[in-house]
Parts: sequence; C-alpha cells; structure tokens
Amino acid sequence: MKDRTLLMIPGPIEFEPAVLAAMGAPTTSHVAPDFIEIFGQALEKTRKVFLSDDGQPFVLAGSGTLAMDTAVANVIEPGNRALVVNTGYFSDRMATILERYGAQVTHVKAPVGGRPSIEEVEAALKQHQFKVMTITHVDTSTAVITDVKALAQLAQRYGALSLVDGVCSIAGEELRMSEWGVDVALTASQKAISVPPGLALVVVSPRAMQAFKQRKTPVMSYYSDWANWLPIMEAYEARKPSYFGTPAVNLIFALNVSLDQILKEGLEARCKRHHALGAAVQAALKALELDQVPIKDEFAAHTLSAPRYPKGVTQADLLPKVQRAGATLAGGLHPAIRTEYFRIGHMGPTNSGDVLATLGAIETALKQCGYAFTSGVGVAAAQAAYQQALA
Ligand code: PMP
Repeated sequence: MKDRTLLMIPGPIEFEPAVLAAMGAPTTSHVAPDFIEIFGQALEKTRKVFLSDDGQPFVLAGSGTLAMDTAVANVIEPGNRALVVNTGYFSDRMATILERYGAQVTHVKAPVGGRPSIEEVEAALKQHQFKVMTITHVDTSTAVITDVKALAQLAQRYGALSLVDGVCSIAGEELRMSEWGVDVALTASQKAISVPPGLALVVVSPRAMQAFKQRKTPVMSYYSDWANWLPIMEAYEARKPSYFGTPAVNLIFALNVSLDQILKEGLEARCKRHHALGAAVQAALKALELDQVPIKDEFAAHTLSAPRYPKGVTQADLLPKVQRAGATLAGGLHPAIRTEYFRIGHMGPTNSGDVLATLGAIETALKQCGYAFTSGVGVAAAQAAYQQALA
C-alpha cells in the first residue's frame, strides 16, 4: 500500500484487519440470537480485560466522553463532594462533568507535566468527606500516568469511591480493577481496546453499584441512566433479548473480535509490549535531545509520548513534513502549552516496526526543518531500548 500513512495519534489508531472485517459484516437485528451471543461474550470479556471479578460492565454507543458522562451522572447526586486528581485537560473535563451534575469539586493539581503526590492527595482527602475521587490514568494532554493502585487504595481508606478515566490506558497500561479496589473504570473503543471510535465501556464495582441503587434523586441524563441500561446488559449476559436503545451492532462485532485478540495476547504480555514501545519512543526522543512534557521519567505513560518542539521549530513546520514522510501525528492539546509540543500514540496493535517507521519519519522531518542531529540516532536508540525492555 504505497500511499499508506501510519496513524500514530493517541486514538483513533491503526486497527487489526480482522477487527475491521467484523465492522463490515452484514448487520443483524440487535435481538438476533447470533448478536445476543456476541454481545453477551463481549460483556464477559470486557470484565476480564478490566481485571474485574464482579463488576457490572456497560457497553454503550458513544465516545469516551459519554463513558465519563454516564459514570458521573450515575455516581453523583447534587451537593456531593468530588476530589479530582488533576493531571491535565481530561481531568479538567471530568471536573466540568462533575459540576454539571451538581458536585462540589476540589482539585489537587500539579504543574503541567507533573502529578500530585500521594501525600498531597491524602491531605486533600482529610479536608472533607468525598463521595468520589476521580483519577485520569493517562492524561492524553500531558502523557502523564498516575499511580492508580496507590490512589485507589487511598480513596478506599478515606471512604470515597474511586473513578478512573482509563480512556488512554485500559488494555495498554496495567489496571487491576478488583485487586486495586477501583470502583468505576471507563474507556473508549478507539484507543488500546483497538476498535474504531463509537463505543463507551464502563465497569462498575459492586460498591459503586450499591451506591447507585441507594440514590435519593433521579439520574439527570436519560440516555446515561444505568437504571435503563442495567437490565439490558444483564439480559445480554443471560443470552436473552431486550431493548432500551439500539446497540451499535457492527461495533460490538468488532469489539468481540478485538477483546479476543487482547485476551489471547494476555494482559501482562500486552502491558509489557506497551512498556517496550513507550521505552523505545522515549529513548529516541532523548537521543534526539527533544524534551518531553512529563517532567520525570516515571511520570511518562507508555501508550503515548509528548515531545516538545526543538527551538525554532513549530507545529506548522514539523507535522506536515512527518505526514509526508509517512506518519500522522497529533499536535498539542493542553491549553497552557498547546503550541509547544506534539503527541505520538503507540498503543493497541502498534508494533516495533510502526514505531521505527514513525521515528524515521520524525527524523526526516526534523532534518528538513534544519534541526541538527546525527541521522539515525533516534531510531538506533529506540531499537536498543525496545530489545532491552523485552529481554
Ligand atoms: N479521557 C481521556 C484520557 C482521553 O484521552 C479522551 C480522548 N482523547 C477522552 C477522555 C474523551 O474521549 P472521546 O474523545 O472518545 O470522547
């Protein structure tokens, strides 16, 4: 495919041919026995991918923002307090949604590229009784990863439900819902789940479901209300027909194929591969002497990287040149530094060849921009780091 450009943004990404083929299958009725079986299987596999023993999965037609919306709408009642562990643009979005549903929001913030320390979060938890604490596992605007395990355990200790935005992490970064005591975890199809955009996936712990069932006020979003969707999800898992809103039939076909692939690879192996991809890209950026948005190595996610432009190079200079050299990348997103950095997604089916091709395209474009470095230094560093990470 000589005109092919690699799609290396932080979602949507390159998808597997078998997943795309499932999208093109003849659409069935949403109550056809074959579809009921596939949706039932997809829900069971969703629970496995989230490493939840007893969570309730919801798979809805919509993007990651719908996943956030349904989580907040069902967990929050007006006047509840919410603590937002804020690592960027998507943590801000979570706060906006929380406020829309009437929560009183407290932020624990860090400078751009940083993350609040566990001690800072604990100090905030001591101030008030929070109903929920939200965590962005990987904030796609900063490429900062948070320590969900430690944060979720802290939330539990202080009697708050933990709600994790795993849109840029789940099925790429380690997230053990049951073991870590995460109460609500959510993602969207177009990232490491590796299905074209259009599905919102949410898994809810028994504790959070209990809190939902004890609500005193109605859920203020009709579409998002779990009271409408719970019987539907339960019916599909029981292999029975049901209807509330028409499911995205072909996306569910594709999801079932992709979840199979994820479970076949194995979550541990998959996270290790993502670590190696992240290590490769970030080693290349260091070799090319490009700074990164995360201010410490241990804050850097493995599903995407966020390099800063070298002095004198702008987005308008660099990204079209990278595109012509074969890879589509994304510009900056965090409002405070939007023009200062770009983003490279490396998740899902992305392999070391894709990463090396992308780094080659970045080197070509940097040369064309007049940036001085030894050709091949980034690619060589990536190869070495990838091998070392997998050894
Ligand atoms: N949270 C995070 C961490 C994200 O990266 C995104 C999408 N980039 C969203 C939420 C929102 O998802 P969507 O664009 O699918 O609505």
